Amino acid sequence: QAKKQGKDRYEIFEPAMQAVFQAGLRMEADLRRAVVRHEFELRYQPIVHLRTGEITGLEALVRWQHPERGIIPPLDFIPLAEETGMIVPIGEWVLREACRQAARWNEQREDGRPLSVSVNLSAVQLDQADLPEVVASALSNSGLPATSLVIELTESLLVDHRPSTLHQLEKIKSLGVRLAIDDFGTGYSSLAYLRRFPIDIIKIDKSFVDDVGDVPAAAALTLGIIQLGQALHLSTIAEGIEDAGQLSELTDGNCELGQGYYFAEPLNDVDMGELLFPSS
Ligand code: C2E
Ligand code: MG
Ligand code: MG
Ligand code: MG
Repeated sequence: QAKKQGKDRYEIFEPAMQAVFQAGLRMEADLRRAVVRHEFELRYQPIVHLRTGEITGLEALVRWQHPERGIIPPLDFIPLAEETGMIVPIGEWVLREACRQAARWNEQREDGRPLSVSVNLSAVQLDQADLPEVVASALSNSGLPATSLVIELTESLLVDHRPSTLHQLEKIKSLGVRLAIDDFGTGYSSLAYLRRFPIDIIKIDKSFVDDVGDVPAAAALTLGIIQLGQALHLSTIAEGIEDAGQLSELTDGNCELGQGYYFAEPLNDVDMGELLFPSS
């Protein structure tokens, strides 16, 4: 009886498993083609000085323009790209393209301080011995000053760090590039990373910002992170600001910078250009 049930189960699940498996293979083949055919695009989300509203920087966020499926968001393909190593060429393209575009916009800005551009880095990229050279080459080819580039690291990247991670990060820092810790507060030992790694910027995770106006504990934690940043002479960027209430809480708490749909969604290069240089 049990054996029979087991067999039925097997017959029910096998086609479903196979479909999942085949969809995975298909996706992997598509992703390989995407790398060869350059099917990726960048969106840019403004990073704003909260008190003045001035745009001080941009975060580059990758999208996959799939020929049949349309725009695929990063969370739907970055994990596969990491597993297969394809994040290495994709990430290099993101870095070079973001530097090139930021350098171009900075050339057009006659007044005002240069914009910085932030690029998300995956752990797999950090394991590549030549990453510091790739970063240096992206800077020199684009003409973007190193001080205008920010590399964003997630806590998950730092949690499973290899002995080489610190060395790699120090090499990148020595170019003059700044390092940000992304999604701060969501990992297991955020505070330990601040001591161990040469971080310049804390990005307060959206989950804190979401509740900052109405949940006292979220407000207390957010203010605590901002004060921690100040004590360590780090910049703080609040992620995912969606309304005026959150903005005023963060401004009152002396958070320096922020980004979120309240200011702008991630924009393509044309729309971002229009925002930076109205009617030009
Ligand atoms: P992240 O680096 O924390 O980026 C912030 C995400 O929050 C972006 O999602 C952005 O579109 C979204 N966001 C910004 N403001 C708001 C808001 O007010 N409300 C809401 N609901 N969302 C907001 P996106 O573009 O889908 O990217 C998701 C994640 O994918 C990023 O999180 C980052 O971890 C990863 N990612 C994106 N681009 C790259 C890349 O080039 N390389 C790597 N390795 N990872 C990337
Ligand atoms: Mg980020
Ligand atoms: Mg984040
Ligand atoms: Mg995130």
